[in-house]
Amino acid sequence: MPKKKIILIICDGLGDRPIKEFGNKTPLEAARKPNLDKLAKTGLCGTMTVMDECHVPHSDDAHLTLLGYRIPQEYPGRGPIEAAGVGLELEEGDVAFRANVATMDSNGIVIDRRAGRIESTADFVRPLDSTVIDGVKFIVRPGTAYRAILVMRGLGLSDRITSNDPEFAGKPVLEVKPTDSSKQAKFTADVLNSFLENAYAALAGNPLNIGREREGKPVVNCLLVRGAGYYEKLEPFGKRWGLKAACIAGAGLYKGIGRMLGMDVIKVDGATGMPDTNVDNKIKAAIECLKTHDFVFVHIKPTDSLGEDGNWRGKKDFIEKIDRALSPLLELKGVRVAITADHSTPCECRAHSADPVPILVHGGVMKSDFVKEFGEKACRRGGLGHIWGRDMMKTILNL
Ligand code: ZN
Repeated sequence: MPKKKIILIICDGLGDRPIKEFGNKTPLEAARKPNLDKLAKTGLCGTMTVMDECHVPHSDDAHLTLLGYRIPQEYPGRGPIEAAGVGLELEEGDVAFRANVATMDSNGIVIDRRAGRIESTADFVRPLDSTVIDGVKFIVRPGTAYRAILVMRGLGLSDRITSNDPEFAGKPVLEVKPTDSSKQAKFTADVLNSFLENAYAALAGNPLNIGREREGKPVVNCLLVRGAGYYEKLEPFGKRWGLKAACIAGAGLYKGIGRMLGMDVIKVDGATGMPDTNVDNKIKAAIECLKTHDFVFVHIKPTDSLGEDGNWRGKKDFIEKIDRALSPLLELKGVRVAITADHSTPCECRAHSADPVPILVHGGVMKSDFVKEFGEKACRRGGLGHIWGRDMMKTILNL
């Protein structure tokens, strides 16, 4: 029997709440979206609570839940996921952090947490890479814009430590402290503090700061690290579900999730993770991928960022852009397409919420329902009923 072929499209933060200016429709309900509506009409719809009613999901734990991993038991930490996102091969026992360069004054008070939103950290963080202190190697890689990745590699490390990031400008850079009484946590905090002291001096002495000062830009003299995670290999997605999987994403975090779960991360021209992202290319690449893979996870980010900006008109327009890119999916034979979100990002909240998200499953579905459009309200009457995020994969596979 031929294997199932599945495309899962996660529109980040798609779910929303009624908006007065749209006649109390959500951006999804107000959007002109003939393709999504056709898929909903000929498929099966429902609603899904991704984590639980009281748990506002972060994108990373939400995605892991949807892909069939138990949170918090199988949560690798934000640092390791971001590290995988920039293509770093982690080893068991590494402790990884997300980082960004910042500006502090002579008293150690953070003035600018992003050093004037510097465009690239590469020339600043390169000299810090491969430093070794007490047998621990520090691997530093640039991320996008002011971001970077820090990995500690060595024996006896722990992620039970605090961050040096005060989280707000105007507050002093913090000393890293252990959060439990283990000798591993104390050792990790001590070595990291030594590294950071050296890093502050090395960054401040970088000749590029002379040019930045001349141009009136904030100098780079601080590295803020957070999201510590102790890396342990997760069971690959392919083994867990018996599906050869690929990942198509623009933003680093989602490539990181794909890579960490052993999916092949496919590079797509124009996939930026921003509203200018080329959704057409991503959908075409997903269809192409089905020749070599059983399961393609496609991530689309801007529905979330536009919700966080409170930009309901922009969110609706972007949903229409997604819809236009979906028309090739209507022609597919023998492919199951699932479309949903990792959480809601209501424009009125400008933040994630625990509100249930709409979900549709199309292709080879035996049952049907009366839902004629893809929207938060309409999906409540769908044949899938209400499902939990942890059951989504089983639902998609078993229909
Ligand atoms: Zn998200």
